[in-house]
Amino acid sequence: MMSAVGGDPLLRRVKQEAEQTYSPPAGAELAAHQLTMPMMQPTEQMDLQPKEEVKFCVSPTDGGVVGNTSPDQQHCSSTTVAVSNGTRDDEAPRRLCLVCGDTASGFHYGVASCEACKAFFKRTIQGNIEYTCPASNECEINKRRRKACQACRFRKCLRTGMLREGVRLDRVRGGRQKYRRAPDVPTHAPQTLLSDIKVLEALSSYEPELLTCAAPPAGVTDPAARTLALLADLYDRELVGVIGWAKQIPGFTDLQLNDQMRLLQSTWAEMLSLMTAYRSMSSAPLRLRFAHDLSLDEAQAREIGAHDLFLQIAGVAKRLERASALREECYLLKALALANSEARIDEHAALRRFRDSILTALNDAISTLRPYNAMAALQQLLLVLPALRHADFAVRRFWSGVNRDRRAPMNKLFVEMLEACLR
Ligand SMILES: [Zn+2]
Ligand SMILES: [Zn+2]
Repeated sequence: MMSAVGGDPLLRRVKQEAEQTYSPPAGAELAAHQLTMPMMQPTEQMDLQPKEEVKFCVSPTDGGVVGNTSPDQQHCSSTTVAVSNGTRDDEAPRRLCLVCGDTASGFHYGVASCEACKAFFKRTIQGNIEYTCPASNECEINKRRRKACQACRFRKCLRTGMLREGVRLDRVRGGRQKYRRAPDVPTHAPQTLLSDIKVLEALSSYEPELLTCAAPPAGVTDPAARTLALLADLYDRELVGVIGWAKQIPGFTDLQLNDQMRLLQSTWAEMLSLMTAYRSMSSAPLRLRFAHDLSLDEAQAREIGAHDLFLQIAGVAKRLERASALREECYLLKALALANSEARIDEHAALRRFRDSILTALNDAISTLRPYNAMAALQQLLLVLPALRHADFAVRRFWSGVNRDRRAPMNKLFVEMLEACLR
């Protein structure tokens, strides 16, 4: 049997890249959880290997991933007491469930958790259950309210670092020994506060609100034509919103005006698709949520000729779900999509600076939001970007067709943005 890292060419490649920028101690092998992406800078705030980092120890014969690589990683095995930070197991404070705050009964699937949360996580993975949050994916999970929203409870399980692999391994005999978690308990609060991340502050404050449909155009009675008209108007207003939002991102207006326009023209469909996907996450069956009062399921999308658009944005939503993406992370991914444009621009150095500042903010935010598995979370989030490119293509093709065949009234700005990038 191959381990996840040994068998996955992508992870292997990431590992190789990481090894070029990160020099492990002589003779030590780089472990999966230590992968350092090239853009990471080793500042204190971005330390992605806090002491409570998940140690995913697989025996060498299973694929060669071993946790022990440096003195402060020696506590990998659950049988080894953490000596490096002076905390012995028997002196540790009473452990609390990282998911709900109840008393933890031990480390389950890699995370200090209570019996209830352990069973909940196991049930969910084994049953392949998909939950839907009745609110906005941000329900508070505590001991008293942990049953109130299963969707948010499951997201929190993943966010704290519970490993799906742990449940799968549980099913095979002896699998239990193959994943272990460091026995020490997080005792320090995250060093960075979200509010310290300036880029994120700007992104959060200026994120456009979810729209409500305008009155449908008079005289349109055909339901499909009506939906299309509403949707075209929503896209147009969303474009206005995203342009205003981009101008508030620190560093964006340092770019030349022409370059600003090129970035927006080349990435608006990615940015709008990302936010649509985020709003649609965890709905089952999946509905794309375009406005407070307009969402489409697959059949409805097909009726207006937007089946491919539906599938591609649904693909982004699935990726976001796999990454358990949080609101703040989506804002940063959206800014990254803008900064990661392939458009031909004049000032490359300025764009690089802009992109670097977004990546740094993304690093900081993930380390703050998920100190327990920041590295894995970052990888999963970056894997959303290719899906976004596919969605971009589908969205442009769909609306170009609508415009060409005059199937719905489209405003000037929308048409301009659509045509600007027909290369
Ligand atoms: Zn719990
Ligand atoms: Zn919820």
